[in-house]
Amino acid sequence: MMPYTSCCIISLFTRQAGCASLGEGALVLGSTSRPCQLVALLKREWQMERAFQTALWLLQPEVVFILGDVFDEGKWSSSQAWADDVERFQTMFRHPAHVQLRVVAGNHDVGFHYQMNTYKIKRFEKVFNPERLFSWKGINFVLVNSVAMEGDGCDICSGAEAELLEISQQLNCSQEQEHHPGRCGDRGPLPASAPVLLQHFPLYRRSDAHCSGEDAAPPAERGIPFQERYDVLSREASRKLLWWLRPRLVLSGHTHHACEVLHGAGVLEVSVPSFSWRNRNDPSFIMGSFTPTDYVLAKCPMPREDTVLTTYCGAAACLVVLTLVHVRLLASPLHVGWNLLRKFKTT
Ligand SMILES: [Zn+2]
Repeated sequence: MMPYTSCCIISLFTRQAGCASLGEGALVLGSTSRPCQLVALLKREWQMERAFQTALWLLQPEVVFILGDVFDEGKWSSSQAWADDVERFQTMFRHPAHVQLRVVAGNHDVGFHYQMNTYKIKRFEKVFNPERLFSWKGINFVLVNSVAMEGDGCDICSGAEAELLEISQQLNCSQEQEHHPGRCGDRGPLPASAPVLLQHFPLYRRSDAHCSGEDAAPPAERGIPFQERYDVLSREASRKLLWWLRPRLVLSGHTHHACEVLHGAGVLEVSVPSFSWRNRNDPSFIMGSFTPTDYVLAKCPMPREDTVLTTYCGAAACLVVLTLVHVRLLASPLHVGWNLLRKFKTT
């Protein structure tokens, strides 16, 4: 069910972002992967559930964004399998009613462009709020269906582009409202603030060659060129998004690795690493603090899979030894030590 959740927490307003901060925040998760084997599946879904619930309790965000690939097999699952996955998602990512949860579609949810269809998109949008523009306390977030940014004029792609153009007009008129009141017509102006883009596929970049940090792609993979419309959006789609929406920040998932890229006139894009142990030994998410004109982001690391497994295995080994000593199938280590000491003294 959960393939590649990239999770990102964004806290709003003037508070300093940090992984120990409390209240008034938004949580952004990247990919949530679901492995095939039952044991791995249970282990990693447990990891995501505990991580998410702990982050909610500790950081108390106001908004949570998940950057797509919520369902591993959403692109081909039957109606029944889809319903089961949705139920498990809602259990794992349960949250209080006052917390806003917004999710963008990934290729594992609705398929790549050549696999998606209206039925899969509608099925996804029935579960997750389909609104592309989300204004929250003076801050505009645009949730892009990047799977539909193929640019080939297909019905779904044309509809997605028309929606974004409409949002672009709304944002423009709001920013001009100050000088030309009444321009926004009946719709009413949005907050006059440049938007934050949230999407599954990253904007076009040649590769991850310039990315650095512990959770960037492994050095051997960084130089591999990205494929447009598969690893990243096409150049054309990326230009359109930057031109139409003029964002101040872009947050994306899909690659499972961290990276920071500057586009055009200095627009920062942050690739949020996977939220799941399936894709990374060291998953993480992002906590941000936003005002209408500024933002601060902090990366919040989660427990490493190898550390947790080593701790559990060590604890289990201790428990076995203590049990064997208790039932006298094993000599007490204290006795063994004492006997050795006595032997050493007498020789
Ligand atoms: Zn993806």
